[in-house]
Amino acid sequence: MGHKVLIAGGGLAGICLGYQLAENKIPFILIDSGVNHSSLKAAGLVNPIVFRRMLKSWRIDDFLPYAIQFYKKTGKYTDSEFFHYLPMRRGFAHQQETELWESKQNLEEYKIYLSKLTNEDKTSEVLINNFGTGIVKETGYIDTKVFLENSYAYFESIDSYQKIEYKYNEFDLSKKTFRGENFDKIIFCEGYKGIYNPWFNYLPLQATKGQTIIIKSNTLKDSEILNRKCFLLPLGNNEFKVGATYEWNTTDLSTTIEGLNTLKENIEQLIHDDYEVIHQDAGIRPTVKDRRPLLGEHPEFKNIFIFNGLGTKGYSMAPLLSKELLNYIYENQPIDREINISRFK
Ligand SMILES: Cc1cc2nc3c(=O)[nH]c(=O)nc-3n(C[C@H](O)[C@H](O)[C@H](O)COP(=O)(O)OP(=O)(O)OC[C@H]3O[C@@H](n4cnc5c(N)ncnc54)[C@H](O)[C@@H]3O)c2cc1C
Repeated sequence: MGHKVLIAGGGLAGICLGYQLAENKIPFILIDSGVNHSSLKAAGLVNPIVFRRMLKSWRIDDFLPYAIQFYKKTGKYTDSEFFHYLPMRRGFAHQQETELWESKQNLEEYKIYLSKLTNEDKTSEVLINNFGTGIVKETGYIDTKVFLENSYAYFESIDSYQKIEYKYNEFDLSKKTFRGENFDKIIFCEGYKGIYNPWFNYLPLQATKGQTIIIKSNTLKDSEILNRKCFLLPLGNNEFKVGATYEWNTTDLSTTIEGLNTLKENIEQLIHDDYEVIHQDAGIRPTVKDRRPLLGEHPEFKNIFIFNGLGTKGYSMAPLLSKELLNYIYENQPIDREINISRFK
């Protein structure tokens, strides 16, 4: 059966593409190994601010409203809610950060994200507070497990999902076939495993390991995400996810004592509360040297595409980027130069 799109890899990138294709009534099949090392391991945080310089993150004004609508809409297919609003409290790292925040909180382009610092914020004791705290608005998290599981269930219900672990020699890209079946287009969405893809391995994709822990604490509040040195995301039941480490250029999937210690040191600078570590986990982010995603068509094989390199903020970016990729494939709209794979060789 021809005239179908094959999505190879069903993490966040492949799932977002699947929803876009379904929406446009374009037949597709998404294949995934059923084992995921990034989208599932992620905290799923959405945060518009880069705190170090108190700047908006790249294209966030485009990404965020689209993403929130997207998760709302796609969640409905399985009667679920993927995205949950939750304010984030930033503990300022030094006096300049407080001053930067105050200089921006009234600016038109920042006031939707930075709430005006109040005296309560300045003296807040929810976290270790040396220089004051501030509440970021328009923050929250995607329940990553629900997002992945329910999306697969939905795609299965429309006959568009198969749990398959593929090998590269099962593709013939000049004929656009996989296991002998002909496809209209093939889109590789393989996360960090894209470093092994023989057709796209010329791109500077990197594997960046991240470790997280889950802690239990009876005194921590669950009404805010906390941030300073690390994030602390309430999970319910007095449990909180804390992360994440950055370990460059490794595909090692094991949790380590070094990772645990780094996270514990970070927690010591965030909260006074007693806690118990109940779980440790490791994942691998697909990152790119220039910190921009990888979208586009293979320079030689027509109708073969890639959607990868989502890095550390994939959950904010992937919904709109998946739409931009489809606009390129089906409407000939150009892909932004910053994210187009044509920027490499
Ligand atoms: C610890 C950690 C914390 C994070 N926290 C956040 C956060 O708070 N907010 C945020 O926005 N982002 C976060 N991220 C980043 C986020 O996870 C990524 O940006 C995004 O999920 C990457 O999605 P992806 O689909 O490109 O890759 P992946 O999720 O890795 O998906 C790739 C898929 O391809 C499949 N695949 C590959 N090869 C094959 C094969 N041969 N056969 C079959 N299937 C195959 C795999 O099974 C996998 O499911 C975090 C990442 C980590 C590791």
